[in-house]
Amino acid sequence: MQTDILIIGGGVIGVSSAYYLARAGVAVTLIDKKTVAAGSSWGNAGLLCPNHSEPIPGPGVLGQGLKWLLDVESPLYIKPRIDADLIRWLWRFRGYCNQQALDRAIPRLRDMQRASLDHYRQIIAHEDIACDFEEAGGLLAFRTDEGLAAGIVQAEHMASFGLKLQILDAAAIHALEPTLHPEVQGGVFHQEDAFITPHKFIFGLAEAAKRHGALILDETEVRGFTASGGRITAVRTNRGNFHARQVVLAAGAWSTALARQLGLHLPMQPAKGYSITIPRPQPSPKRYVIFGERNAVATPMGDTLRFAGTLELSGMSAGVNQRRVNAICKAAREYLILPKKKPAGHVWQGLRPVPPDGMPYIGRSRRMSNLIIATGHAMLGLSMGPITGRLVAELAQEQPPSLPLDGCEVDRFG
Ligand SMILES: Cc1cc2nc3c(=O)[nH]c(=O)nc-3n(C[C@H](O)[C@H](O)[C@H](O)COP(=O)(O)OP(=O)(O)OC[C@H]3O[C@@H](n4cnc5c(N)ncnc54)[C@H](O)[C@@H]3O)c2cc1C
Repeated sequence: MQTDILIIGGGVIGVSSAYYLARAGVAVTLIDKKTVAAGSSWGNAGLLCPNHSEPIPGPGVLGQGLKWLLDVESPLYIKPRIDADLIRWLWRFRGYCNQQALDRAIPRLRDMQRASLDHYRQIIAHEDIACDFEEAGGLLAFRTDEGLAAGIVQAEHMASFGLKLQILDAAAIHALEPTLHPEVQGGVFHQEDAFITPHKFIFGLAEAAKRHGALILDETEVRGFTASGGRITAVRTNRGNFHARQVVLAAGAWSTALARQLGLHLPMQPAKGYSITIPRPQPSPKRYVIFGERNAVATPMGDTLRFAGTLELSGMSAGVNQRRVNAICKAAREYLILPKKKPAGHVWQGLRPVPPDGMPYIGRSRRMSNLIIATGHAMLGLSMGPITGRLVAELAQEQPPSLPLDGCEVDRFG
């Protein structure tokens, strides 16, 4: 099959790219080995969050991680194993756990997320997508003095980058969110943030992309590539070969293995997280609530409430660790007033694509001239989906990018 632009991967990044390309009148085909939103874009926490513009590596992250390694219910878990890629990744990650690297990344992520939130507003209004979009901000809530003190230091640091945050004492946080557990002592109001039901947005965006002319094919798995003269000449799939002038690799956590088939080094670890979605209790929080000491979150999504969290480095496995799921549910009861009777919840797991420096890969490959890579958005892929799609469309059309791509170079690790 012949197309102008072929996108591999139907997560928020691939679908956003297809949307902006189709809107620009470009002939674009998107293929996914399953369906649109089958990967980590489906059941995530739904936060669109300029206020959380920190990459994963940062000062103290490794020390905290090592402490958590001994706790089976901790928010971070590294499955002990001898895996050369993981060891190399951890070594590189260590190199970014410092203040300078953090302070370099924050303004870049902030600008991308703010631009992305603007794109969300425009797309949702323009395409009339029903996705429970709410600009009600969010809360970071703490139960301990120690947690609150650390949260305030972090909030003051983020405010120094111009982000709109408000520190709340116990009275103020309970006045704003009466469904918080009485033991919550205070926290931070993240004024700039919004939230959505992720799959509703992505399905709506895919339909909009189709209306603008994109072709979206499910059950079409990339099995390999044919390349010559530094160009991809064919993408081999279970449904035959695809020939495209340009190829966009947006396959989330699967991108590293696909890039390897092209001789490209795109280091990432799949970082598993879980969510549990329950019917919306009454009353329930009006905005997202992060459980400060537990690194998990509750997000209201229409007639449901979703709890999400954990970061598990256990490879490309799809298994569910029930103890970690239980730990998220337990944390929810520590931070929120919830009905005594436990409702049945839908449990989901997804793999975040995480580069060692916590910055996405967005750009053209130097070694494959007709390949654009867009992946590695770690914890912020939903939030940064539309701006990434816009940037991909600009790159593919040889237009200047609407935001600088410093720090996102796709060949930065060789
Ligand atoms: C628990 C949890 C909570 C999160 N919360 C948030 C949040 O609140 N806000 C936020 O911004 N981000 C959040 N994230 C991160 C976010 O979900 C990801 O960064 C984002 O979904 C990545 O999107 P993607 O399009 O790159 O990848 P994916 O959504 O994983 O899509 C990749 C697609 O590629 C397809 N694919 C793979 N291999 C092939 C192949 N060989 N051929 C064809 N297709 C292929 C897959 O089927 C899949 O559909 C969270 C993640 C988790 C796990």
